[in-house]
Amino acid sequence: MNREKIICIECESEYFKDSSEMTDLCPDCAHKLYDYPNCEHEFENGNCSKCGWNGKTSKYLT
Ligand SMILES: [Zn+2]
Ligand SMILES: [Zn+2]
Repeated sequence: MNREKIICIECESEYFKDSSEMTDLCPDCAHKLYDYPNCEHEFENGNCSKCGWNGKTSKYLT
């Protein structure tokens, strides 16, 4: 299955479109900003194998 990767508008990381409840936010930012369930990240080669997130926290968030 080819999962579509898009860019989070908040942290500018790539993530899999179908891994987030939000259309413009990765699961991590959606969790921090809107309290959606976060991905239980499993990092492999710098990116989460589940959601594609690169682990960078937004400079706008603590
Ligand atoms: Zn993000
Ligand atoms: Zn993840």
